[in-house]
Amino acid sequence: MKTTRRDFLKVAGVTALGMAAGAGPALAYSKGAYLPHTEHMDTGHDHLAAKRWGMVIDTRAFHGEADYAPLIEACHKEHNVPTIPGTQDVKWLWTGGFHATFPHNHQEFLAERAHHAAYPLLCNHCDNPPCVRVCPTQATFKREDGIVMMDMHRCIGCRFCMAGCPYGSRSFNFQDPRPFIAEENLAYPTRMKGVVEKCTFCTERLAEGKMPACVEASEGKIVFGDLGDPDSEIRHILAENFTLRRKPDLGTSPSVFYII
Ligand code: SF4
Ligand code: SF4
Ligand code: SF4
Repeated sequence: MKTTRRDFLKVAGVTALGMAAGAGPALAYSKGAYLPHTEHMDTGHDHLAAKRWGMVIDTRAFHGEADYAPLIEACHKEHNVPTIPGTQDVKWLWTGGFHATFPHNHQEFLAERAHHAAYPLLCNHCDNPPCVRVCPTQATFKREDGIVMMDMHRCIGCRFCMAGCPYGSRSFNFQDPRPFIAEENLAYPTRMKGVVEKCTFCTERLAEGKMPACVEASEGKIVFGDLGDPDSEIRHILAENFTLRRKPDLGTSPSVFYII
């Protein structure tokens, strides 16, 4: 979509209002390694590219909640996600039971295994993302490769996107998250009070030719690839396995698939 000067000024105006209201600079980083995310992808020769990035999680290979701990740790360490006790926690990757994960999947006689299993939850990078439609500043936007991004510099903390996301995939920083980061990764920015954040499909790693941190930590149990390429590994896995997506009847078209 082409952004006109008029659209830009509209966005800049709303953003300026948010800044005046006290949002201020949303990010801090100790090294110069962080580059703000843009609508256009890194075109360096090492970067991984796709028409539409997607993920397939083989939940049969995980045998309980504890099996997901290394994945969550890898994600949260890499992205300076704080560990805040209580109900105002910030999470990019977490777990839920079958009914919380697939509430629209009415299985009267659910398999015992599925009943007791845990499922990893993250932003679905929806192909039709309601969070993007409701954001007044375009702080959240969909990239050409399908990744739904956050530009925390533009976020005014209105939380419309949280209301718009039917998956609870976004967290709001009710308080300064920095004191709750155990060991800061200096190559990734920390955030401040008053902004929203979520999983980014590890765009910073894709730009360096690496797979997402949780995919690497899963040791083959999660496959990440190009849904837009009929010959990709992820498309072959989808063709050969029965998968579920979260709340598909809402029309958001999630890019995360679960083999049950
Ligand atoms: S899961 Fe929620 S936050 Fe992620 S793209 Fe979909 S609507 Fe947006
Ligand atoms: S809180 Fe969400 S909807 Fe509001 S500006 Fe930030 S990203 Fe956009
Ligand atoms: S894709 Fe990256 S950001 Fe998203 S949950 Fe996995 S490790 Fe975290």
